[in-house]
Amino acid sequence: MTSAGGIPYLAIPGPSVMPERVLRAMHRSAPNIYEGDLIDMTAGLIPDLRAVARTSGDVAIYVANGHGAWEAALANTLMPGDKVLTMATGRFGHGWADIAAGLGVETELMDFGRSAPADPARLEARLRADADGRIKAVLATHVDTSTSVRSDMAALRAAIDAAGHPALLMADCIASLACDRFEMDRWGVDVAVAASQKGLMVPPGLGFVFFGERAAQTRAALPRVSRYWDWGPRADPDGFYQYFGGTAPTHHLYGLRAALDMIAEEGIGAIWDRHAHLARTIWAACEAWSDGGPLALNVAVPDHRSHAVTALRIGAPHGRDLRQWLRANAGVTLGIGLGMSDPDDPGGDGYFRIGHMGHVNAHMVLGVLGAMQAGMTALGIPHGSGALERAASVAAGP
Ligand SMILES: *Cc1c(COP(=O)(O)O)cnc(C)c1O
Repeated sequence: MTSAGGIPYLAIPGPSVMPERVLRAMHRSAPNIYEGDLIDMTAGLIPDLRAVARTSGDVAIYVANGHGAWEAALANTLMPGDKVLTMATGRFGHGWADIAAGLGVETELMDFGRSAPADPARLEARLRADADGRIKAVLATHVDTSTSVRSDMAALRAAIDAAGHPALLMADCIASLACDRFEMDRWGVDVAVAASQKGLMVPPGLGFVFFGERAAQTRAALPRVSRYWDWGPRADPDGFYQYFGGTAPTHHLYGLRAALDMIAEEGIGAIWDRHAHLARTIWAACEAWSDGGPLALNVAVPDHRSHAVTALRIGAPHGRDLRQWLRANAGVTLGIGLGMSDPDDPGGDGYFRIGHMGHVNAHMVLGVLGAMQAGMTALGIPHGSGALERAASVAAGP
């Protein structure tokens, strides 16, 4: 017997759940890319994207995933031989540094482990020691999706300023945009990268690079930028094809239009609040379970936790077994553990993640938690009691 039928919930941290409204907007015949409503609609996406990132700066859109957006951000700000300092709080920090290395950029890593945020004091001390200004940019992951650690971007900016250092602050907001509060201009972020398939609720395939005035000046001073990655014509096109350096990602754009409408209707502040509320609901259950069993939240300090994804440890092989049970019996797919152990470590089956980004509400989250408790019961994994009651009372509160 299985009760997996019904609406499935892909509770992995991206791609996230796609709203029916987004899917319906995409379900149409091929539009003309030379004239007509696609052209007008695309221009209207730009101010709405800026509003989501809370910036008056520019945005370039790429037909790319997050890795492409990473590369685009670096290609417009750095030359081979330049140096960047990367704040790693999980697998994705290492990934962005690796993209930089592939561009011939010298890459220094500041590793904060797998459960702590980037430390502004360490950043400030390192930049003070860089007296000749070799470090051109600080790369930081706002939310590292592998560990669910969230770093304080405003504090990193304050550290750069306190050191009197000219480095650009570049933020990976792929997991956090339209989930966790992010304020590009107010927090002094020079470049922010995002992708379509997480908080923006659109299928994978669009990458976004937001850039402010200082980053634009950096770009202008470079001797050359690859034609394809150049954000100049994309952010300020003379002709429609320049937005995308070629054929537009037509259907993704209609999906994005619908998603941005939904975001504007709910309001970005309300979206941040909803994600915070749902995250606290999940943490309440997890804390109760961990009182009587092996399950534990990866990040101990609530302020350091993302509101979009929760990384958990439960010990091998329980993590894998629980994921399989939920998929087979409850129609819920949880995320695998990512970057929490070395690839050949059998302990890797002890980690998993809950994605709660984008188009999610209380009944989905409470459903995941109920299914998790059923799974732990069915599998005989010990767990503390009262978790669902605690989750429900958090969900019932403000
Ligand atoms: C998903 C993600 C990426 C990678 O995005 P892709 O679309 O898979 O290339 C990078 N950084 C963070 C923080 C992410 O969540």
